[in-house]
Order: sequence, then C-alpha cells, then structure tokens
Amino acid sequence: MEEKRIGLIEKVSGNMVAARFKTYVIQNEVAFVIRGQERLKSEVIRIRGNTAELQVFENTAGLKIGEEVEFTGELLSVELGPGLLGQIFDGLQNPLPQLAEKYGFFLKRGTYLRALPEDVKWTFTPTVKAGDLVRGGEKLGHVPEMIFEHFIMVPFGIKGSVEVVNIAGAGMYTLKDKIAQVKDSEGKIHDVYLYQYWPVKIPIRCYDEKLKPTQPLVTKMRIIDSLFPICRGGTYCIPGPFGSGKTVLQQLTSRHARVDIVIVAACGERAGEVVETLRTFPHLNDPRTNRPLSERTVIICNTSSMPVAARDSSVYTAVTIAEYYRQIGLNVLLLADSTSRWAQAMREMSGRLEEIPGEEAFPAYLESRIASFYERAGVVRLYDGNIGSVTIGGTVSPAGGTFEEPVTLSTLKVVGAFHGLSRERSDARRYPAIDPLISWSKYGSFIDDKQIQRAKEILRKSNDVAQMMKVIGEEGTSLADYIDYLKGEFFDFVYLQQNAFDPVDEATDEERQKYIFGFIHENILESEFTFKDKEDALHFFHTLRQLFRGWNSSAWDSDEFRRTQEEIESVLKEKLAKGQEKVYA
Ligand code: ADP
Ligand code: MG
Repeated sequence: MEEKRIGLIEKVSGNMVAARFKTYVIQNEVAFVIRGQERLKSEVIRIRGNTAELQVFENTAGLKIGEEVEFTGELLSVELGPGLLGQIFDGLQNPLPQLAEKYGFFLKRGTYLRALPEDVKWTFTPTVKAGDLVRGGEKLGHVPEMIFEHFIMVPFGIKGSVEVVNIAGAGMYTLKDKIAQVKDSEGKIHDVYLYQYWPVKIPIRCYDEKLKPTQPLVTKMRIIDSLFPICRGGTYCIPGPFGSGKTVLQQLTSRHARVDIVIVAACGERAGEVVETLRTFPHLNDPRTNRPLSERTVIICNTSSMPVAARDSSVYTAVTIAEYYRQIGLNVLLLADSTSRWAQAMREMSGRLEEIPGEEAFPAYLESRIASFYERAGVVRLYDGNIGSVTIGGTVSPAGGTFEEPVTLSTLKVVGAFHGLSRERSDARRYPAIDPLISWSKYGSFIDDKQIQRAKEILRKSNDVAQMMKVIGEEGTSLADYIDYLKGEFFDFVYLQQNAFDPVDEATDEERQKYIFGFIHENILESEFTFKDKEDALHFFHTLRQLFRGWNSSAWDSDEFRRTQEEIESVLKEKLAKGQEKVYA
C-alpha cells in the first residue's frame, strides 16, 4: 500500500491553507486538515514548488502552523445513486436534516455524513446478463425512485466496453450489496454497486452526442415562454438587484417548468433566505403529480454564514447531480441562486492566493469558470438512443444593481437567454419583474415570430411615449401616441404580469398562451379603435384590463372563461374603428 502523504501547515489565511509536502500532490485532490479529532475537508487548488494551497470547506479558526494535512489522492466527488431525490445537502453533499439531527443545529465542523441512505432496500431489476458488453454510463438494471425508473449504470469512469461477469437477480438490495461485476479490456474486474462516485469538476460525458437545444422548456411564465423563451438543454440567467424577485421567480419555475427533476443550488444572499427555501420547499405541492414537489427535487444549499469555499463546491455538486439524472434519460433543470455569491467566493480565494486581480478584483479566470459551468448544460443522445437534458438557469445579484459588472457580463456571453429584472418594475410590483425592454433570448418561441416582434415594438413605443409624457405631460401627447401607450401598458398588465397568488394565473400552459397571445395581438394590438378623446381611451383600456384580470383567473375552457371572452368581445366591438368589424366574422 502507498504510504500516507502528509503536509505541514505553513500559512493560514482565511479559508486558504498552505501546506508544505515532501513527495507529491495532485491538483484538485481532496486533503484533510487534521486538528485533534477534527478532519477538515479541503481541496488542493494550487501547487507551487513543494507547497500546496488548499481551499478549506470549513471554518479554519484555531489552525496552527506545523499542523498536519493528509492528502487523499481523490478528487472532490459526489455520491450518485438512488436516494438523492427529496434530499437537502450542503455543498459537500452532507444531508443537512440528518446532520442537524445528529449533531444539533450548530453544526460542528469536520463532521461528514454519507449522502445516500445505507439501509434503504431498493427493488432492483436487472436488464443485462452475464456475457453482455456494456460501456460506462450504460444501464445494468433499474430501481424505482419516487416516480422514476432510476437506472443503475456501469461506472462512468470505466473506459471502453466491459463484459458483464455476473449480475444480481431481481430482488431487494441496499447500497452495501454488490450488484454486478464487470471485466474491462485489460481483464480487470470492477465491482458495481447501486451507487458510484464521480468527481464534481469533470463533466459526465457518457453519451453519443450533444445536440443543439431546440425544444422549448415551458415554464408557464408567459413573459418567459412567449417573449424570452428557454430551451431544454439551454441556459439562461436572471440578473436583478436585491429584492427584485429572483428567488421567487426561481421557485415558481421549479414548481411549474415542464421538466422531470429540479436541482436547486441555493447560495444564499442571507442565511434567512435559505432557511426560507428549506422551510417552504418541502411543503410545495407539485401541480403535475399532486404530490410534494420535493420528491423530484434535490436542494444543495449554503448560506452566507458558511465558509465561502463551500459555495464553490455546492455549484459543482449540483451540476454533477443534474448530469447524473440526465444520464438516466431525464430532463433536469438546475437553478443556481445566486451565482454572484459563488463568484464572490472565487474572488475571495483568489485574493488569498495573491493572484493578479482582474476587473473589480475578480480573478482573471472568472469568465472561463462561468462559461465552463454553463457549458455543462445540454441535450444529449445517450448510448441507448434516449434523450436527456440539463437546463441551467442562474441568478446574478450585482452589487449596486448595475449589469455592467464582471459576473453579469461574463454570464451574458455564454447563456442563451437573459431575463433582466428591473428595480423599477419590482418597485411598481409588476411581477415577474423581467424587463421586456432589455431582456432577450436566442431560442425560438412557440408564438409566431411576427406577433412577438409586433408586441415588442408596441412595448417600446409605449415606453417612449411614457418617457415623453413625463417631460411634456399628457396634454402635449397626441391621441395616437396615447393609444400606443395604453396598448403597451395593457399588454404588460394582462399578459406579461402574472399573479403568483392566483391559482390559475400563476401558471399558464402553452395552449392557453398561444390562444391569449393570438387574441390580444389580433383584436387589440393590431386593431384600430375610435375614441372621442384620451379620457375615453383610458376608460376603454381600463375596462378591458379589469375583464382580462377575470379572464386570466378563470379556468381554461370553463364556462366562466367563455362568458368573459364574450364580454371582452362586446366591449371591443363598441370602439372598433370603421372597416375593422371583419375581425369578428
Ligand atoms: P431577490 O431574490 O431578487 O432578492 P426575492 O425573490 O426574495 O428577491 O423577492 C423579494 C420580495 O418581492 C418577495 O419576498 C415578495 O414579497 C416580492 N415578490 C417577488 N416576486 C414576486 C411575485 N412574482 N409576486 C408577488 N410578490 C413577489
Ligand atoms: Mg434571492
């Protein structure tokens, strides 16, 4: 057996510890800082000469020069297998509720628990037999996990084809049971269990091909799906100042987005916010299954009171778990809130390493780290022909609220859609506060492109008129301009804004969005009306707005829905300009 590799601490600076070693050290290997009974997990982030610099994922108070560091030879890894769903982990994949139960709420540093439950019996069904040839990432069998068939796969790290030497029969097994042995091309036998470990910083690439994301990911937020859509396997970001609704928007998305599994990486702004997530999440109802949403969710959380390095690992842990479920052929949505906290962790660590700082003291590699994180999203065709996807949505919370800062700018370079929240909108309680004048998406919507362009044009025009009116007042504005202003405001109120507290309005599916958007486009945005004066126009749009409020909260295809539509149509008819009546043929 290899001799234990150790180092001795020569410097402690916040969560950075430098240790002198004798033999060798591997970049990114895990090391433990030993302090009496405590073993503090850390990762080698830089090697210079015979000094290894470590980011310690725990509080480093009290560490002294000369104390020992033990190198493990293993990369920072997560445990993957059945039992992940429904769990709440910290950045090192410790199950938080169990940790709290065992050690009390004030977690002792250096205590780690196994991520997956050891004693649960899983009903395994093999799908291969001895003699079959399989590759890393291919299925050997499956177990039921919540509402899914969880594939048990050949460990991802095994290269080339392997032969199944033996495989367990159908039956009940725990994580301790060996369920198969496979032989690689060099004749080496590998034991396979229901779980496997995978290093978090290396993408799982056991698939045939990465495909271009083309299928819309329906979130049921109208402003997103219709105007600034996202795609399965795509990426998007939500920058917004503090309190503008980023976290609420992500929670709504996690409930309603049409995906199988949601992974939430909560890097808290404040400790209370994460506690809030933990408190509300388990009680959320999944509208699709009518069961707790947590059954198809994994939460990785760090509060701002945990050491910054743990935020770095939580982001990677989350994306690796997302890739794992994609490998099973599922559609996964990873929500990271907030990536700015992660970037701050990078900045702090970079400062400790005394690296040459880039803009706003962020490290020069900030942009490439952000890019390689989002690059782990994607739709893939697996070896068995099935398709799986990981979609990544990250919030950004720029200090000072301006988007002209390194984290936002770096993120915008790589994502496929940008949902910028504005303070102005959230102050006016126009939720979701996504600003239609600055947001964009490179993905295709299920709404006709010409209609979208037209709607955006009206929103711009409406905003221009509103700005103008601030200067010259309403009296100086022409009736035509005023009508454009009202059309834009109307569209904003009844379509872009959505009431998260109304059970119908909080989520609008694709069919209804197409219908309502089409209706508004044809009968209101593209219609000409005759008004006596501005007062008359204002009154008309006000009436319409009230009617649409009711329409939005009446169930799709209900009597109430039809009745309200008729009322809306009769109001419209009254003011239609001559020659426009044909609209209601
Ligand atoms: P952020 O994460 O950007 O700091 P939050 O998501 O925590 O902001 O939102 C701050 C507050 O704004 C919430 O507590 C809530 O009162 C309000 N809010 C945000 N989004 C909505 C929404 N869609 N509907 C109603 N209120 C909202
Ligand atoms: Mg937030």
